[in-house]
Amino acid sequence: MEIKQISVIGAGTMGNGIAHVFAQYGFNVLLHDVKQEILDRAVSTIRTNMDRQIKKGTLSEDQKSQALSRIQTSTDLTASVRGSHLVVEAVVEDAALKRRIFSDLDRLCDAQAILASNTSSISITELAASTKRPQKCIGMHFMSPVPVMKLVEIIRGLLTSDETTILVMELAKNFL
Ligand code: NAD
Repeated sequence: MEIKQISVIGAGTMGNGIAHVFAQYGFNVLLHDVKQEILDRAVSTIRTNMDRQIKKGTLSEDQKSQALSRIQTSTDLTASVRGSHLVVEAVVEDAALKRRIFSDLDRLCDAQAILASNTSSISITELAASTKRPQKCIGMHFMSPVPVMKLVEIIRGLLTSDETTILVMELAKNFL
């Protein structure tokens, strides 16, 4: 499977940074949160952070506008994951909420989609157990601020497949 479209669930500190880097590196991004004003604020933050990159000479105006055009936002979870090859969950660090979101994602996402969590402390095996696709669940632990920190920890759950791990590691190398 070639990863072209990525959904990011949660548009806070980490979610907007994750959406930023994926859009910058050419992926179409669907960014989801519970309120449109949070999503608008996230896009505004991404714009400001890209302006900072332009000042540093690491991004051009053209690259900025192309990256921003790749980001779509929605408060509807179904629409936010439709057609995505990878979903990165970055909601608040609450195990019950993340388990519920993983269960919803499993129901709503295409069968081949990979479900990743940016959790700092919750077991990937535990989140994967809320789905019928534990082999396709994985941890992608980005560092803050995401557009600056060139490091992503990849965490396997007990049932994460080699195929999923290799695909996600190759993807992460795109922006390392
Ligand atoms: P944050 O509070 O800035 O953002 C969390 C976002 O989740 C908010 O915008 C909130 O509205 C949204 N949210 C809450 N419930 C939701 C739901 N049901 N559906 C969709 N969105 C929902 O938090 P953050 O700092 O971005 O942390 C997010 C995750 O990243 C956590 O798991 C955290 O442990 C992890 N993390 C954080 C850092 C860091 O330095 N902040 C670093 C690495 C990993």
